[in-house]
Amino acid sequence: MDPCYMVQDMKSLKGKGVVATRLIKEESVIFEETPLVCCQFSWNSSCGYKACDHCLRPLETAEENARRLAGSNDLVLPYPECCPTNKSEHAICPSCNIQYCSDKCKNVAWQQYHKSLCHTSDSVHPLNELNEIWKQIHYPPESTTIMLLARIVALVEQADDKQSVLNTFSEFCHGTLSQDENVAAQQLMGLYRNQIELLRSVFARAVPNSDVSQQWFTLEGFSSLWALVGANGQGVGTSVFSQWVSNVGNLTLPSEEKNSVDELISKIYDQMEEHTGITFLNTEGSALYALQRCVNHSCEPNAKITFPYGNSTLQLVATKDILPGDEICISYLDECALERSRHSRQKILRENYFFNCSCNKCISQSDAPDETSSEEEEDMDDDEDDM
Ligand SMILES: [Zn+2]
Ligand SMILES: [Zn+2]
Ligand SMILES: [Zn+2]
Repeated sequence: MDPCYMVQDMKSLKGKGVVATRLIKEESVIFEETPLVCCQFSWNSSCGYKACDHCLRPLETAEENARRLAGSNDLVLPYPECCPTNKSEHAICPSCNIQYCSDKCKNVAWQQYHKSLCHTSDSVHPLNELNEIWKQIHYPPESTTIMLLARIVALVEQADDKQSVLNTFSEFCHGTLSQDENVAAQQLMGLYRNQIELLRSVFARAVPNSDVSQQWFTLEGFSSLWALVGANGQGVGTSVFSQWVSNVGNLTLPSEEKNSVDELISKIYDQMEEHTGITFLNTEGSALYALQRCVNHSCEPNAKITFPYGNSTLQLVATKDILPGDEICISYLDECALERSRHSRQKILRENYFFNCSCNKCISQSDAPDETSSEEEEDMDDDEDDM
């Protein structure tokens, strides 16, 4: 069937947008896509989250994951058939021992970017040095990682048509970001001028480059690469334990058995929270998607992003019926921020995504007082600490 959407230039200042071409029913999948590039966060990886280096699929079993996060080695999960991990399919790069969920991921990674980045577990290799410097500069929570940038350059370098891959990524840069916004984007990621310069100098030694990608190795080019991933990176979170929980939820069980497994699950979640702290329960990374990046924000979204396969493959799903001709929008704000006043929503969007929201909800509330209550101000400060 023809796609139910099209990408088009929007009349407003937003640039491109995605519009429904026919009626899309609530809960239906609008599109599915794999990322152009994706990478696990550096801290996440060094904290023991084993994931496929290509698609972010967890490599632990649900039981191993629960044991590690709950700090309890004798924990046993019933219904092991509900765990999606299949270790017999896992694969490994013979040179550097990086792990993959399958031969397919291993081969795609090698062909696309890993050949240029594979270094035989040499601890003094500049790529490892780069990763360590990144981690020292950027404590968790991370919103992206320097390793994603290395992967982007490698993708260009390994492509048959380097220039066309370079153009794909260059198109991601919204030409509208001013120099000030560029700097703001870097500061949002906790990066300052001298740190960018330090990272750039090691980056230039660690990542192979040719005439084509050379433009990203100057201070200005390197800064624009940061702005690209800062403004367009989509967070990917995968958890083998929550997949197991959801599969168990789909089993038909006698009510007594169901109650006892529900009790076990909430006990394990409590233990995990106690042992790890709430922010670190998932394998996390960041990715760039060619189509998803065209989906604009609305404070009254009609679609949402999901990761139904437990890896970096994304689906855009309708959250209400969408009429032909309507723009399809997601919310860049979390649910709690969406409930705030027009003024606070716009402030968060301006500071983090550099645009003034003119969605229907914002327009209909334009008579509301143009200020943030002191209570909300406090809430927002708390949120900023979490970012
Ligand atoms: Zn994989
Ligand atoms: Zn390798
Ligand atoms: Zn809005």
